[in-house]
Amino acid sequence: MRNFPRRHLTLIAALSIIFVVLLLTDPSTNTDSQLENGRQIELALPIETHISSGEQDLPSAEQATMPSLPPKLVIVVKPGDNLSTLFARHQLPAGDLQRVLQTENADMLATVKPGQSIEIQKNLEGRVLELVYQANPKTKLISKLLASGYVTEIEHVEPDMVINAFEGNITRENSSLYHAGLAAGLTDNLIMQLADLFQWDISFALDLREGDVFTVIVARSSIAGEPIGEDRILAAAFTNFGKRHIALRYVDTNQRPGYYNEIGESLRKAFLRDPVHFSHVSSSFNLRRKHPIHKRTMPHRGIDYAANRGTPVRAAGEGKIIKAERNDASGNFVVIQHGDRYTTKYLHLSRFAKAIKPGVRVSQSQTIGYVGATGWATGPHLHYEFLVDGVHRNPRTVRLPDSKPVPAQELEAFRETTQPLLAALENANERTLMLVQNF
Ligand SMILES: [Zn+2]
Repeated sequence: MRNFPRRHLTLIAALSIIFVVLLLTDPSTNTDSQLENGRQIELALPIETHISSGEQDLPSAEQATMPSLPPKLVIVVKPGDNLSTLFARHQLPAGDLQRVLQTENADMLATVKPGQSIEIQKNLEGRVLELVYQANPKTKLISKLLASGYVTEIEHVEPDMVINAFEGNITRENSSLYHAGLAAGLTDNLIMQLADLFQWDISFALDLREGDVFTVIVARSSIAGEPIGEDRILAAAFTNFGKRHIALRYVDTNQRPGYYNEIGESLRKAFLRDPVHFSHVSSSFNLRRKHPIHKRTMPHRGIDYAANRGTPVRAAGEGKIIKAERNDASGNFVVIQHGDRYTTKYLHLSRFAKAIKPGVRVSQSQTIGYVGATGWATGPHLHYEFLVDGVHRNPRTVRLPDSKPVPAQELEAFRETTQPLLAALENANERTLMLVQNF
């Protein structure tokens, strides 16, 4: 009988390697010592992936004399597929599938998703000899036909983790967070995370200034050198217009992760400052404005965010929909009640999001509709109103209530766990990144 290669992935701690990478993306303009486009420090973890393939290296005598097996089938799961339809399509024995599914550890096979693939090795009689399913980058399922029947094993691979520090600044050439982030070496995903972190404190579309600087401490995960899409910001500092904002990741005793400032206040507010990703503010809050269509003084009790038609409009805070209807002036509009004191209104929507109707509860950031130009509107925009105790307030300047801080009884633990992050933000170097790593 043929021996099947068994791969053992072993993680072996090795000597630490420290890289300090100076990323100067435009060397021609960097003859002086100034950091024009960003700096990246990388700390490689003291972990090395070692793959020992055992029998695979030494083919047995049997194996060498056996006729070769049919080529391996790689089956890609399409929408609507399940294992039965896949087996039928490839003329694989339904009985083998039943036997595989009855093995211990086979539950995961119920979760195959479109786009994933399953590898199948048949034997010369057409039976399933081995089935391999990569459930996610960290988890692989392997069912094998042994003399005793099928056996299923789950292989877990611990990703390698690397702590990186990125430093960047807003310049004339890189005037947006996106471009400054790219220049500093951040991925699109990390730039989004950074923007989300500070969305309550900084409007990245309106408030950025030349000279703003940021530092981001990131845990990056990879397997065999391939990123697995789990890069996570551990800490960030953003100095905007001279004011330094800090975000520290902390997982509380209920295992809920959150981002807090250095004294344990949540960065998250009960309300988003801007409920839509917009290109610019086309009309500000102004109680003595001349109306663009009616040419007479009409207060503008909200703010107009110009954005592309179809851009998702998000609930500014958790609450209950009290209106989702249409009239001549407002077009399609939504009103949300947040507790006793706060109400928000969203006008001129092209349409409502699915299931948005009066009585429905929504969470913060949930999409409630899409930007449009219904009602009295000269172009696609969101008209947004924020009312406190029934009085219209300027959504861009009103003081927003905070979310819950770190509980008092956890402050000690919070200070202890975030101390290395603060040190790394203060001065990102091999030593401080190593402290973050070893925490
Ligand atoms: Zn308006």
